[in-house]
Amino acid sequence: MNHQIVDQKERSLVLEYAKKVTGNFIGGHWVPSKSGSTIEILDPSTGRTLGEVPNSTADEVAAAVENAAAAQHSWAAKTPSQRSKALLDLARLAEENFELFSVLEAVDAGKPISAVRDDEMHGTLDAMRFFAGASRTLPAPASGDYLEGVSSVMRREPLGVIAAITPWNYPLLQAVAKVYAALATGNSVVLKPAETTPYSTVLLAELAAQVLPAGVFNVVFGSGAVAGDALARHPKVAAVSFTGSIETGRKVGIAAADGVKKSILELGGNSPVIVFDDADLDAALDAIAAGGVYNTGQECMSASRLIVHSSILDRAVEGLKARLSEYQVGDVLDPGTAIGPMNSAEQRSRVEAKIAALGPDAKVVLGGVSPEGDGFFFPPTIITGAGQHDEIVQEEIFGPVFTVQPFDAESEAITMANSTRYGLAASVFTSNVGRATRVQNALNFGTVWVNNHLVFAADLPVSGFGQSGIGTENAELGLLEYTRLKHIMIDQR
Ligand code: NAD
Repeated sequence: MNHQIVDQKERSLVLEYAKKVTGNFIGGHWVPSKSGSTIEILDPSTGRTLGEVPNSTADEVAAAVENAAAAQHSWAAKTPSQRSKALLDLARLAEENFELFSVLEAVDAGKPISAVRDDEMHGTLDAMRFFAGASRTLPAPASGDYLEGVSSVMRREPLGVIAAITPWNYPLLQAVAKVYAALATGNSVVLKPAETTPYSTVLLAELAAQVLPAGVFNVVFGSGAVAGDALARHPKVAAVSFTGSIETGRKVGIAAADGVKKSILELGGNSPVIVFDDADLDAALDAIAAGGVYNTGQECMSASRLIVHSSILDRAVEGLKARLSEYQVGDVLDPGTAIGPMNSAEQRSRVEAKIAALGPDAKVVLGGVSPEGDGFFFPPTIITGAGQHDEIVQEEIFGPVFTVQPFDAESEAITMANSTRYGLAASVFTSNVGRATRVQNALNFGTVWVNNHLVFAADLPVSGFGQSGIGTENAELGLLEYTRLKHIMIDQR
């Protein structure tokens, strides 16, 4: 493990940028917080302080919602073309700030700079352009005369003010998925980022203020329990778009339901990865290793729960071990780093606790112990022998940890895959097309990959089945979530 801190210049850039946060970003400018309380932001690679953000009160959240409500009507009155143009302008500004976004996101969230530069930033910019364009071609039932002498007209309208609550594992990508879908369809937004990862969202809001009307996109900082809850409950918020854990999602859903408003919930996952004995094992293990350690496994679709045909179990474990041992774990600013730290000491403790609680038959065959030294690092880990009812199999781990369980019959693999409370994503590796089709049809998951894992595009929907969520993010369906359909009937007589 390489814990050397490699580039103080880029880290200094983040420290400098962090000083900009002097309050909440409301109505297109910084509004000082009067809460008297702050949240310290740490660098996960070093454990040192990057800066602090306000721990906002419910009143400060309310001020942001009032601003968003005041700005929404004129934004909604713009044509789809005008809104699209403004959002494309913001995408252009984001691209001009590619390097600053990359460094802020890498250091603040603890992501390898290579992953941000080569992958996430491109996905983020592409998502911006997708939402800006797709919002101009939204479908609706055909207008027409469905009753004699009466014309029906369909009108797709925005919902109003959207509360966006984002997690720390993809701060920028999640902000963009929510803010762009909401703004493109004529809503305004108040966003509360996760407590540990504010900075890429701050940059997005600052750039937005250059091209969007003041007040259509506001950012408030603070705790989930106070600021997040106040935002979800505010009577002028029309809908809540949340990504995070099931437990918090349930609270957010209840808060929204209290006000009889919509909630779009993208929650946790615990992805099964079924590997048949007829699969190309080397190709499968390449995809699985990469898909399990990406973002240090803090990925709701992580390739974490392997269900492997018993005849190839030993080969699969050895092959996975070999691949995981090759990854460089270390400072996110080292371009050679493939696996960064966990996002927080708290998240690392959660993973450690799950490993400490393993049942007597479970065995850690790789990793499993946090290294000495600064930062919140945790090594790639493989666990064999865990039973289907063990917590490590049933619950999302959210770390670079794989469980490997054997199966014999196809039906057994499907049963094991389907028997947790989650339903976000799954994958199946086989060279038999008939088997691939049978298995993917039987899996209760919103996304199923065949002979791959963890590939995305903004054009394609993400929906959680089971307790993994309600509603859809991305794709045309994701845009429609932020609209309502009005039916107008005109009597011709
Ligand atoms: P979390 O649920 O703790 O927090 C998410 C956000 O909710 C944060 O901004 C937090 O401040 C806020 N929050 C907390 N309590 C709140 C409350 N009572 N009311 C309103 N807001 C509140 O989740 P996390 O630990 O930040 O993120 C990790 C989780 O998110 C994992 O479980 C992961 O699987 C899930 N996730 C899901 C997806 C998806 O698309 N399905 C994507 C990314 C992450």
